[in-house]
Amino acid sequence: MTVQVATLGFPRIGARRELKKALESFWAGTSTKADLHQAAEHLRAEAWSRQKAQGADIIPSNDFSFYDHVLDTSAMVGAVPEIYGKVDGNVDLTTYFAMARGRQVKGESHEDCGCGKHSHSSDVPAAEMTKWFDTNYHYLVPEFSADQTFRLSSTKIIDEYREAKEQGHDTRPVLLGPVSFLLLGKGRDASLNRLDLLGSLLPVYADVLTKLHEAGAQWVQIDEPALVLDLEDATQAAFKQAYQSLTQAVPAIKLLLTTYFGGLGHNLDTALSLPVHGLHLDLVRAPEQLDTVLSKAHPDLLLSLGVIDGRNIWRADLNAILDRLEPIAAKRDIIIAPSCSLLHTPIDLERETTLDPEVKSWLAFAVQKIGELSTLAKALNQGRDAVRAALDESAAAVKSRKNSVRIHNTAVKERAAQKDASLAKRLSPFPVRQKAQEEALHLPLFPTTTIGSFPQTKEVRQARAKHAKKEISTADYEAFLKEQTASAIKWQEETGLDVLVHGEFERNDMVQYFGEQLSGFVFTKHAWVQSYGSRYVRPPIIYGDVTRPAPMTLDWWKYAQSCTQKPLKGMLTGPVTILNWSFVRDDQPRSETCRQIAFAIRDEVQDLEKAGCPVIQIDEAALREGLPLRRQDWKTYLDWAVESFRITSSGVQDKTQIHTHMCYSEFNDIIESIAAMDADVISIETARSKMELLEAFTDHHYPAEIGPGVYDIHSPRIPTVSEMADLLVAAEKKVSRRQLWVNPDCGLKTRRWEEVRPAIANLVAAARELRG
Ligand code: GLN
Ligand code: ZN
Repeated sequence: MTVQVATLGFPRIGARRELKKALESFWAGTSTKADLHQAAEHLRAEAWSRQKAQGADIIPSNDFSFYDHVLDTSAMVGAVPEIYGKVDGNVDLTTYFAMARGRQVKGESHEDCGCGKHSHSSDVPAAEMTKWFDTNYHYLVPEFSADQTFRLSSTKIIDEYREAKEQGHDTRPVLLGPVSFLLLGKGRDASLNRLDLLGSLLPVYADVLTKLHEAGAQWVQIDEPALVLDLEDATQAAFKQAYQSLTQAVPAIKLLLTTYFGGLGHNLDTALSLPVHGLHLDLVRAPEQLDTVLSKAHPDLLLSLGVIDGRNIWRADLNAILDRLEPIAAKRDIIIAPSCSLLHTPIDLERETTLDPEVKSWLAFAVQKIGELSTLAKALNQGRDAVRAALDESAAAVKSRKNSVRIHNTAVKERAAQKDASLAKRLSPFPVRQKAQEEALHLPLFPTTTIGSFPQTKEVRQARAKHAKKEISTADYEAFLKEQTASAIKWQEETGLDVLVHGEFERNDMVQYFGEQLSGFVFTKHAWVQSYGSRYVRPPIIYGDVTRPAPMTLDWWKYAQSCTQKPLKGMLTGPVTILNWSFVRDDQPRSETCRQIAFAIRDEVQDLEKAGCPVIQIDEAALREGLPLRRQDWKTYLDWAVESFRITSSGVQDKTQIHTHMCYSEFNDIIESIAAMDADVISIETARSKMELLEAFTDHHYPAEIGPGVYDIHSPRIPTVSEMADLLVAAEKKVSRRQLWVNPDCGLKTRRWEEVRPAIANLVAAARELRG
């Protein structure tokens, strides 16, 4: 029996971020369309030959994208909302980028505050963007009208198949499946049932498959990640309809139905009943499904086993995987592959020349992962002896990770293992604390504050870059930051804010800043992964037990508080957010790593309190995005996430006021957990939703204080006093006035001072109006 290696998708951004450069210079008008196409062609050619060279037998095409593969699919089927103009023939690049980024009148203003949103100054807004399943990749949400029709409007998938073929690669094109595509979209009006569109969508898919077949493709990888979600019967029926129809229409093409990010669960029988030739399973996230699939699957169904983690950066235990695969490969032909597309991993570990060599020996990025698969395939096809050296190396890496003192710290493990419930419990219930805080802080009704950061001006970023390059001394850099902080505090006092912040000028990023000071984290130089479009992130890698060797924010807080008599908020990032925005170790449960971080931040909270800090904000911007894909797993996640937050926040006296902040406003389905976090004050994003989303808090009699954002910081607009006062009046109808705080939606780091100064002055005026 033979084993083949496949990849399901390769990172498209280029090892040197070539795509970003090509796109941004095209958008800026400094390069031509031809330049852009040439850069893209070059990237594709490199990706194909790279995968081939690493030993992949089956390589994908159409995994490349200028911006996003869901947007590509919308373009393919002609799902282009009217506001972008009428499309005759193919969707052109101008329309494509208008959907991606809006069409701007003047001056581009792409911003990212870290909470996954962006804004543009444009007359046609970009399509909505949201997270791709539980990843940090964002896709553009397809939008369907009630009279939606579909028509083949892009030949990209066929063109790229042909392009690869000319270079000697007979690829397996990747196509986002019709059911997942519809489910990822939204109806322009809420009453539209997206699945009703399936009948009119399928002919376009059949057309694409026919054209691919004519071009020579034998197999097509059809991605249906929706199969790992909780699905209703109607959706399961849609899968049957879709695949029966496609195989009937194009019987000659073989479909590899591809699932990832979880197990098939209750959709397993549906998946196995579909008339496809192959099925890909994510065996990293859901190893347990293999046995059932093996026992139920038709012997002719070609199984593609996702055994290498496509979502993380750890080297695999090849010998353990072989133990699992050998008996299977003895009985049937199989494909082995990464669990999902490699889009979510950085490209090449070899570029990290300054990374700690021991840590580096535990890692594998996209290129190395394909190498691991090729080793596995050789071992399965020719016996382990054929790749003895590589297997021994893998075993050595596993052993060194298991035993390294760099990773394992008994004191940290013991501390995190404590079961003492009082560690996660404030001394008194909220009403008692509220009284103590009133006495300590003497705040007016409708107290005003901001979320933490102030504009990261060019000056601030330049100073940071110069310091990193050692062009200015640490003393000069810190003096500069102090100046910035002092002047921000002076301005806040003049403006009349009640609870001040230091402005976060010293922070590059709300996670990285802490990660760099905690042990157990490493940072890379080139390990970028796509977040959306030309925006890439370089997540920290949590490799070991986490400790806090020294206070992280204390000196900045002390300095800032010394500039003012008003209460100055300590500003920390919470454990769940640090976890969710990092590559996390896979040798212990995420919950345990989170707990370790929680204790480290708890120490910081206590140090701040000891120094006299009266108000401490612990940001949990990413709490919601860590929610598992399946409902049944939500409770477990929320329980440990909330417990971690409480460990961080609970070591203080009643009079110390704990704030938390979250950059979204959908709380309905998690409100009980939000309440269980037991923060004294929570600030959330609500400006654009007109306070309607506060209802979750009303309905659940949320007991503590709330700052619903009244200033939409994603827009350059300066809200007026009356606008914000109106929002507060609306808020007062949902929760009591005693509960309300007045603040912006999020941090102000992406805004300009010219916008922030008048906007915050108006915000203070609005609060005063309500008090009066
Ligand atoms: N304190 C952070 C800031 O103000 C919070 C950022 C966020 O929630 N994304 O920038
Ligand atoms: Zn925020």
